[in-house]
Amino acid sequence: MKYFLRLISVALVLALPLRFATAGGAQAGNGTDYLTPDEGASWFLGLDRTIKVCYESAPHFGTLSSTDLESVITQAFSSWKNYIDSKGINSTSQTLLGPEKIAFPTRSEIHQTCNGSEDLRIYFGVKKPEVSKLLDEFNSPFAFAQRTNYDAKVGWGSGFIYVAPQGAVDPAQSLPNWSTPNTLLAILTHEIGHTYGCGHVAGTVMDANLAQKLGYFSNRLDQIDIHRSLWAGLKIAAKYNGTLISDAGQFETLMGRAPSGPVHADLSENSLLTVSDDLGSTKFPMTFDTNMRAVGAGDNLVFSAYLNNGSPAHFGLRSNAVVYYGSLKTAKGQILNIMYESNTAQTVGSGVKYGPVTLKYFDQGTPRVLFQTQWN
Ligand SMILES: [Zn+2]
Repeated sequence: MKYFLRLISVALVLALPLRFATAGGAQAGNGTDYLTPDEGASWFLGLDRTIKVCYESAPHFGTLSSTDLESVITQAFSSWKNYIDSKGINSTSQTLLGPEKIAFPTRSEIHQTCNGSEDLRIYFGVKKPEVSKLLDEFNSPFAFAQRTNYDAKVGWGSGFIYVAPQGAVDPAQSLPNWSTPNTLLAILTHEIGHTYGCGHVAGTVMDANLAQKLGYFSNRLDQIDIHRSLWAGLKIAAKYNGTLISDAGQFETLMGRAPSGPVHADLSENSLLTVSDDLGSTKFPMTFDTNMRAVGAGDNLVFSAYLNNGSPAHFGLRSNAVVYYGSLKTAKGQILNIMYESNTAQTVGSGVKYGPVTLKYFDQGTPRVLFQTQWN
């Protein structure tokens, strides 16, 4: 049940460093992992294209009606559409690769039976031959996604998602339990995420252990970003309460005076740092140069794509820590060079925590922490 997507996770975990070394295709391991440069990449590319989706469900799948299942599929796709639109994924990829290159389609149409010609076939407990062929290789999966075809010249492929019926993974505990709200939605959103070229990212709907974390994530199962951003984007995405650190005169540097009483600080989505104490509140707009952006390594690629229409193009965003460089003007008009870090993961005790957001400024070249959120 750990394996939602055996082939892709094997490719990413074991074979990512080899991916480019095996360009052109090579076999590795036991021969089942046929590695090509597009392994793990989006099955579908092209802004104006429509993904043809069909679904079939087995009578023993669960209590959800056909209408329910169709609405879960619709919701999962609209969740990705909203995410791709709101994060500017397509404009980001096109900024990097040019307008006709790489974009992720967000339009889909749903058919109520599968004739095999659809781009994405979703089988709710239906063991079609293409499912049975692979099912034995998994250890009681909740679900998995398998691409069966990909044409890198046009950036279009096809494949299927299989979702296990109610109770099939662990009959004693009745797992999976598709009647728990948003459980099927989260699992399906995860699998569709693989079709968009997203690897596993802890703390998001793409968490490798999503099935075990359904309870832990329970009130955010309809989200792609659960405890953390799958892709942090180019803007500060939320409002963060935190602490203004003032171990080296940071408050005085910023406000041009000494603090009076307790200090409160927050960072908002409009790139504003707000600092207040008993004497009042001051807003400090921050500007970030999107070209001055560094991304930490460590996590899997999200929205990865491969196109080879004469000149091979690889594209992928990293989900891990994002650092922006920019500037901020103090109350006295001094320009501080700042560094904003977010979406970092760190082991705290026995678990992994996400955050904090940290804002630093450079004090004659030395980065000093100015603001920091709590671990969440
Ligand atoms: Zn997965």
